Amino acid sequence: MISNKLLEKYAKLIVVVGANVQKGQMVSVNVSTDNNILARAVVKQAYLAGASKVTVNWTDDYCSKEGFMYRSIESLSTVPSYTVDKYQEFVDNNGCAISISSPVPDLNKDIDPSKLQAANIASRKALSFYSDHMMASRSQWTVVAAPNAVWAKKVFPNFNEEEAVDALWKAILEASRVTEENDPIEEWNKHNAAMLAHNEILNDYEFDTLHFKNSLGTDISVKLVDNHIWAGGGELDPRKVLFNPNIPTEENFTMPHKYGVNGKVVATKPLNYQGKLIEDFWMEFKDGKVVNYDAAKNKDVLTNLVNFDAGSSYLGEIALISYNSPISNSGILFFNTLFDENASCHMALGRAYVINVVDGPDKSLEELAKMGYNHSMAHSDFMFGSKDLSVIGITKAGKEVVVFKDGNFVI
Ligand code: ZN
Ligand code: ZN
Repeated sequence: MISNKLLEKYAKLIVVVGANVQKGQMVSVNVSTDNNILARAVVKQAYLAGASKVTVNWTDDYCSKEGFMYRSIESLSTVPSYTVDKYQEFVDNNGCAISISSPVPDLNKDIDPSKLQAANIASRKALSFYSDHMMASRSQWTVVAAPNAVWAKKVFPNFNEEEAVDALWKAILEASRVTEENDPIEEWNKHNAAMLAHNEILNDYEFDTLHFKNSLGTDISVKLVDNHIWAGGGELDPRKVLFNPNIPTEENFTMPHKYGVNGKVVATKPLNYQGKLIEDFWMEFKDGKVVNYDAAKNKDVLTNLVNFDAGSSYLGEIALISYNSPISNSGILFFNTLFDENASCHMALGRAYVINVVDGPDKSLEELAKMGYNHSMAHSDFMFGSKDLSVIGITKAGKEVVVFKDGNFVI
């Protein structure tokens, strides 16, 4: 069991550094029934920070699974108006969202993928105004994690259930810079400053293209959009409230040009999509589009992702993380993108972040599209960093700059 002291520290970090809840603001907490103790601690901290009202949206992957099992595709394709209204009220009031991620791995392994796809598409469509709002950072949001027994046993298969949960708590808190002794808020102020410094160096180069290569077969060039912005660490909402969309986070990321990706990328970690693990996969891109791919396991789920919509076969994000980073050094494979993506350079298939281009949040979709922005209802990160990855940045003047050598930042 996590101690009360650590629980309180973590909850306060989530509320103050993650979401940065403001006085009088409405807050919604998305959390699984497995994490009710943490939920209560977060709700308390949100009120202490001055929240006007905190709404808890309880989820339960097991109940959802029964729905996938027994509901028809037609039924799964409908989103009730009260759900849409709830999100609309949140957007209209600039509410702040806290999501505590605790996925149950492999839970949906026997579910017909077309059912998962139908439900996913319906909800993304009905709530696209909400994802537009959040991805443009119009109000604060944060995603953090907490263990559940099944996830913990997947990460630590040799431990009994209780030991595994304790070990996963320890790993999550360490990755999130929360210890018995430290002041996590102080640690995060320092961490955010360091991330910002890296963004500035990368922004100053204004690279035209990044070229990635390693011995596994990755050999891919990724053109960046003009006027791209490297982001990572804290972000500002329009009211200049600083928040951290992810705890933990180690990534500096920016916007690839939709039609400027060519070559092959080999994944170095499995990708959890629609409750299934896609393993040992690679993809080949031509003029930005995935033209060929394969996976040793769950290729059909990768097909679902690539064919999700018109934008899900193009990239929306490229992120740099040193191989020598705290989460990577822990050597733990979390089977959860929130952690694993921070252990490795990654790309995302699907929607780009408008914050990754100058004045992006104020531009229309047409203006953004002209610049090479990729629009999609999907956004799925996959990892390809390795200890021998090299990254060469090519400036607009054609000068080559070594950005990564042997897996690590050298600028
Ligand atoms: Zn990322
Ligand atoms: Zn991403």
